[in-house]
Amino acid sequence: MDPVDPLLPYDTAGERRGWRKGVKVAKSAIAESNATDLEDLVEHYGLEVRVDDWQGLDGLVLLGTYNGGRITVYRHSIEAHAKQYGVPDTQVRDAVLAHELGHFLYHEELTENSRASVRSELLSRIVSTKSRRDPKPVREAAANGFAVEVLRTQQTTYELPVLVEILTSLGKTKSTTDSNDKSEFG
Ligand SMILES: [Zn+2]
Repeated sequence: MDPVDPLLPYDTAGERRGWRKGVKVAKSAIAESNATDLEDLVEHYGLEVRVDDWQGLDGLVLLGTYNGGRITVYRHSIEAHAKQYGVPDTQVRDAVLAHELGHFLYHEELTENSRASVRSELLSRIVSTKSRRDPKPVREAAANGFAVEVLRTQQTTYELPVLVEILTSLGKTKSTTDSNDKSEFG
């Protein structure tokens, strides 16, 4: 438990840093966009949302993915988690949407920061683009911090502790896919 942020679910320094950064990115996104709700916010950044009926595969469970300007939400996984944790589908869906938007904006922020520094831009060309990016657990923590901060500002009263549990449990169940790391999913 964090005295400042009681919802912060992480123990490692990197993940805690990621979460706080996610919260910060959310605050500036909300301020910058003037968005009145989550849909608005997603629209403001020009992202497309698609609902998919994919059922998952061999223990690989995805609630949502972000890829190339498109957020995909997986209806069956969302419904199953909502049922399992006893929260409305719409709350899980919104948490997933916010998480995926978080991935997009957190990545944008990192890219912008590195652009701001010629030295790191040069370095990234030499060392490969991968070096610019945080490890996956830190990115997941950032997306979750972002999501929770966005949900906190909505009209709806979200079951935040439960949604945090869903979002963080998912990060763990997908660890087998980390080595591939093809996209920002999860
Ligand atoms: Zn994720």
